[in-house]
Amino acid sequence: AVGVLAVVGRPNVGKSTLVNRILGRRAAVVEDTPGVTRDRVTYEAEWAGTDFQIVDTGGWEADAQGIGSAIADQSQLAVSLADAVCFVVDGQVGLTDMDSRLVTMLRKAGKPVVLAVNKLDSSDADYTASEFWKLGMGEPYAISAMHGRGVGDLLDAAVAELK
Ligand code: GDP
Ligand code: MG
Repeated sequence: AVGVLAVVGRPNVGKSTLVNRILGRRAAVVEDTPGVTRDRVTYEAEWAGTDFQIVDTGGWEADAQGIGSAIADQSQLAVSLADAVCFVVDGQVGLTDMDSRLVTMLRKAGKPVVLAVNKLDSSDADYTASEFWKLGMGEPYAISAMHGRGVGDLLDAAVAELK
């Protein structure tokens, strides 16, 4: 394996759906409702002849006070152990405070980041991704993890960062 790609983002943006899309099977647990405690899970993946490890994050303690910081801590750990990061945001919802906090954390971590703007299920919605240039995380890749749109281009960029 050439390296480790951590998939981070706030709950419900579609991280596990994306991981399953990349793996070509339903290994990661997709949840409609945030709040289930899960650990980081690492899978062996392959793209265009390159083997790598992909880490699905999403375990968090669903206590009322600390939910945000627990997610951030967990993401931070995954990022610290990774060679590159796929940062996933929800293109239907737009930017949230938690996205901004994760951006701050990612800047400090200094790892290469590829930005995935998910849930853009039709090409009509691709213009929405350009809003995310302002995050300063480079090119926003418009994707639909659910349908597979744009995931190839995203993976090309992610694997390039692992090499
Ligand atoms: P996670 O918490 O970030 O791992 O998100 P999940 O992968 O569990 O997905 C959360 C919800 O978003 C589920 O209901 C998914 O079916 C839905 N979802 C994920 N990707 C997409 C997508 O590309 N398009 C749409 N419309 N829904 C998606
Ligand atoms: Mg998940």
